[in-house]
Amino acid sequence: MSELKRIPLAGVIGSPIAHSKSPRIFRHWLTELGVIGHYVPMDIASVDLNDALRYLPKLGFVGVNITIPYKEHVLNVADQVSDRAAVVGSANTLTFLADGKIYADNTDGYGFTENLRHGAPNWKASDGPAAVLGAGGAARAVIASFIEGGAPEIRLANRTRSRANALQREFGTKVKVFDWVQAGNMLEGAATVVNATSLGMVGNAEMRIPLDGLSRDAVVTDLVYAPLETALLEHAKSIGCQTVDGLGMLLHQAVPGFERWFGMRPVVTEPLRSAMLI
Ligand code: NAP
Repeated sequence: MSELKRIPLAGVIGSPIAHSKSPRIFRHWLTELGVIGHYVPMDIASVDLNDALRYLPKLGFVGVNITIPYKEHVLNVADQVSDRAAVVGSANTLTFLADGKIYADNTDGYGFTENLRHGAPNWKASDGPAAVLGAGGAARAVIASFIEGGAPEIRLANRTRSRANALQREFGTKVKVFDWVQAGNMLEGAATVVNATSLGMVGNAEMRIPLDGLSRDAVVTDLVYAPLETALLEHAKSIGCQTVDGLGMLLHQAVPGFERWFGMRPVVTEPLRSAMLI
């Protein structure tokens, strides 16, 4: 069979992988757009990862998403790294190029911004100071997109302060670190508030932060999407803030990979959101 007539294959690599929602997102779009292609979850051991990534294109794979625990490691395997993946220090979208090279990109920040743009149509990163809770991998992508979007200041608090300090050193003086126990103080005058910790996720403790100083004009978003309405979002909504849940980020971050691999730009729709909640 000639290379051109091959049915394009894509997938998601992680370990474990059974929990991943990416196959459902991609299969929804493949069906909706009538694209002939397949998307498969792959649980690959770390010792086999580099060989697998070099071999997958020979099997007809055009690209793969990467999830925990390989998002940082794959930057070492890639031949080309996008600016945003380099800034964030990890990749979630690998494209196998025609010349055999691997191109690594990180679309988490794109997904974050697009989710807010759709969920709160008047929102802009540059509206005012951003308050970010958490300093893990997701927080890095969030901070990078606030900087790219022109936020005047990014206030950051993390349980382990040294990780927040490290991000401050990396991202520069726009980032101001606050003590975790006084995180409520950083909400005064904030235009956007982001929970980028795993607090609030099913099975974890809730994110409890006093919202007294928060303006009713602020937009509050949670990266956690299970449950869809976290206690933080519920509280913020009850005081009149606009809230945006984390599911849209997951959906929007998948758009660039789908378009690159299957040649059509998919749309994040209400039916897709509903399909993810079943
Ligand atoms: P990560 O790198 O493991 O970072 C976890 C973060 O949560 C750290 O800041 C950590 O603080 C904090 N944390 C964990 N347990 C805590 C506790 N008991 N009290 C206070 N802080 C706690 O994870 P990640 O990749 O950044 O992901 C963070 C969250 O975002 C997860 O819930 C993930 O599912 C979600 N996420 C969502 C999307 C989406 O598309 N919606 C995308 C990426 C991530 P320490 O540094 O002190 O440990």
